[in-house]
Amino acid sequence: MRIDIVTLFPAMVEPVLGESMLGRARRRGVVDIRVANLRDYADGKHRITDDYQFGGGGGMVLKPEPLFAAVENLRTPGARVILMDPRGRTFTQAVARELARVEHLILLAGRYEGVDERVSEQLADDAISIGDYVLTGGELPALVIADAVTRLQPGALGAEGAAERESFASGLLEPPQYTRPEEFRGERVPAVLLSGDHARITRWRRAQALWRTWRSRPDLLRHAALSVEEQRLVERFERGEAVPDI
Ligand code: SAH
Repeated sequence: MRIDIVTLFPAMVEPVLGESMLGRARRRGVVDIRVANLRDYADGKHRITDDYQFGGGGGMVLKPEPLFAAVENLRTPGARVILMDPRGRTFTQAVARELARVEHLILLAGRYEGVDERVSEQLADDAISIGDYVLTGGELPALVIADAVTRLQPGALGAEGAAERESFASGLLEPPQYTRPEEFRGERVPAVLLSGDHARITRWRRAQALWRTWRSRPDLLRHAALSVEEQRLVERFERGEAVPDI
């Protein structure tokens, strides 16, 4: 898979892409992530990329020409062009899974007051927001998307199967995880995790995931596929009972 990030501030993006799991995935060829400097696509001696907005109101807006030139240069037949935009559809794990299947993503990072509207009308196939807040630019959103999409690529994660158990994969939040030591500051790792009984561990994890989701993100439960037994568990939580010892 290939991802291009188009930005006025490549130095904000590049160091993140070189570290840890993203860096390793790139070096191993799991993803080919490139950073394009928007200024390289601007014309004239001063390579101007932004200008005052028509109608007043202050604040600079990214001009359309450099963004069009960048995309026209980077585009491949399988490319999807996505504008980082607080007005776009909200990025979720489901959107990450959808984008992980696209051959080539071109992520456009806006700046200042935003981007000339003709970019979303004529150039971008999609607009994505990473949440209901406003950042100073689209660089962090582009990195968020590149990161979430990269870790879904086959071979990006160390342990196969880890991606299936984690938060949102099944519509629920992840169950608690523990590592050594078995006892830390008076708190022991739940005995079930040391029992070696895999069926019991699976049931415990599922019940814990349900409990955590019910407690902090009840909105997610409306869309989760629950078995009859799991629905009964949720009813117990609603009656104020704690997670049963499975
Ligand atoms: N005036 C705009 C905000 C501009 S912020 C408005 O009110 O909608 C500048 C740029 O940062 C945007 O063009 C976008 O590319 C990026 N950005 C800011 N917040 C974002 C978010 N929550 N999700 C995605 N991109 C965001």
